[in-house]
Amino acid sequence: MKRWRFLLGFGSETGQSKAIAQGMGDIASEQHQICADIFELDEVDKQFKLEEESIMVIVTSSTGDGEPPGLGDTNYSTFCNCGRVLDRRFEELGATRFYPSAWADDAVGLDLTIEPWLQGFWPALKETLTKLNTSTETSINNLTESINQLNLTQEIKPTVNRQLSSSNKFKSNQDNITYSSNLSEMTTLTLPPKSTHSLSIKLIESSEVKDHLPTDPHYHVSTLIRRECLTHDTAIKPVMSIELEPSEEEFLFEVGDAIKIVCANDENEVNLLLKRLEWMDRASHQLDICISPDNTKKSAKIPTYIPSMCSLRYALTNCIDIRSSPRKNLLRLFVDCTTDEDEKRRLEELCSREGSDIYIKYILEEHLSILDILNHFPSCKPDIAMLIEFLPPLIPRFYSICSSPLDDVRSIKFVYSVLKFDALNGRTYERFGVCTNWLNKITIGTKILIQTRISQHFRLPLTLDTPLIMIGPGTGVAPFIGFLEHLYLSSKSIAGFDVNNLHTWLFYGCRHRQHDFLFEEQIQMYQQINVLKHLFVAASREEDYPFRYVQDQIKANGHELANLIYNRNAIIYVCGDIKTMVRDVRETIAHILKENSDITNIDEYMKSLETSRRYLLDIWS
Ligand code: FAD
Repeated sequence: MKRWRFLLGFGSETGQSKAIAQGMGDIASEQHQICADIFELDEVDKQFKLEEESIMVIVTSSTGDGEPPGLGDTNYSTFCNCGRVLDRRFEELGATRFYPSAWADDAVGLDLTIEPWLQGFWPALKETLTKLNTSTETSINNLTESINQLNLTQEIKPTVNRQLSSSNKFKSNQDNITYSSNLSEMTTLTLPPKSTHSLSIKLIESSEVKDHLPTDPHYHVSTLIRRECLTHDTAIKPVMSIELEPSEEEFLFEVGDAIKIVCANDENEVNLLLKRLEWMDRASHQLDICISPDNTKKSAKIPTYIPSMCSLRYALTNCIDIRSSPRKNLLRLFVDCTTDEDEKRRLEELCSREGSDIYIKYILEEHLSILDILNHFPSCKPDIAMLIEFLPPLIPRFYSICSSPLDDVRSIKFVYSVLKFDALNGRTYERFGVCTNWLNKITIGTKILIQTRISQHFRLPLTLDTPLIMIGPGTGVAPFIGFLEHLYLSSKSIAGFDVNNLHTWLFYGCRHRQHDFLFEEQIQMYQQINVLKHLFVAASREEDYPFRYVQDQIKANGHELANLIYNRNAIIYVCGDIKTMVRDVRETIAHILKENSDITNIDEYMKSLETSRRYLLDIWS
């Protein structure tokens, strides 16, 4: 019998959409006997003819300010823009929608949308395939039979059908993950089907282990040449600055671009994981990965993000995202590696359909890592193959470049906030942000793999006299330092470039001007030499200072700003990591425009600013 198939295209920048598409492909073949032909979107022409396809599903992210592809995050006014544009285009071309699209939000966690969306997706896909009867060799009877056989999810009896008592041995003061909920009363839980292994993974004692930076033509090698703390010792959130020197001359970037950094997990955390799994004595053994002889997955591939002949320690440190929250399919596999009956039951609850809310609340929202889960379930002893195959790859992080290539193309600078998360709410150990912690710890001279993320629109305008309104609290000031430096260096090197023609406005925000005013001296220098015309600083933790947030300064200068925007075609740039700031700034700009102009439909006007690329965002969560 010929199998049903559909086309599954993905567009991925950091690997998240790719992983989602591949996961869907595996579920399609394993649980529904449907073949998903998976293609990267920019390869489509080479692989098939769209007009001859009956069903197409697309998983794509958006990058920058709604460009293809990268993160989908509601902080952007053009949230999931790439997906939405594709969606609209398919409709315009006459495609029929068989299931509603969903817009997953990286600001709150992609799984919060994807999990429920997938539950409805498979029945809709099967119904459509049945209607289209795309399989020429399969009779209707067979189809109906196979649909009936293909249970979406597996109904199982719980291993333990009783409430965990309040004296149960997992009781802990700080979390609820191991407490039983009202689900313990439930006799039937709907578990996700068990994922099958497509890889065969062994550890071999070998003297040939090669642990070194992988060579990837998409990445450039750079050297860490400087790291400095930009904030005072008393600052609540320290900010560091980094300078890298690319090895090759041809490393190209422009102001407004970001840099992608390949980072590594924390050594202590890797050790904790190795100890917990009792793999410490085999950490230096070579990881031998091949496709399993029993493999049935069409998408099965040896992961390219794990170099061949590397050690287990290397893979856990450099290749696998050990900090990620385990997905439900992994929790499902954990059930079978757990000996304690109460723990088994609780794991079943956490990965069941009925336990979706508790999974979201206790695992996703609290960002519990794989090690947290293993610490909560001490009798769970997964094997190496399980973690290597089912944990996602460690993805690079982005940082906005704050230097100008006019200064020195062999010097790339960026800044980052140090992130610390306490051992609370189910988190069983204190931790730091993965990449920022790694950047804090590596020694000067360390080689780092980097790549430029070219910004499509977050750029200086071509004309000098266009007013620039730059709004960047905290590390959000980074690209504006790049802009100002670029303008300053341009004024020194380009004939006829007169700084007096510039109309540059910078709105900066910190907690306390004495503690965390980033780039204070440099900004003052730009003011003195007339590159920066207007500086407005907000300080959220200074008593008696009237401007707490950048929005307060924007409001105080509303009349003049509205004039610049409405009458002088100013470009507004907003950059930073503060979710509420992005929304509040937009509302404040809309407010000052309303107060100080004759615009009647302010919503439409704000949208027109965005579509004409005069309201530009570079933000992150
Ligand atoms: P991670 O380990 O990835 O953790 C970071 C995030 O995960 C947290 O913000 C939080 O949302 C979540 N999280 C993880 N664990 C917990 C927990 N236990 N409790 C609560 N939340 C948790 N950053 C800068 O500092 N400077 C920049 O100039 C900059 N520019 C950027 C430009 C772009 C285009 C983008 C997309 C991002 C930029 N970022 C910047 C963000 C940066 O890429 C990283 O996301 C950031 O440095 C954190 O990375 P990390 O690996 O240290 O932290």
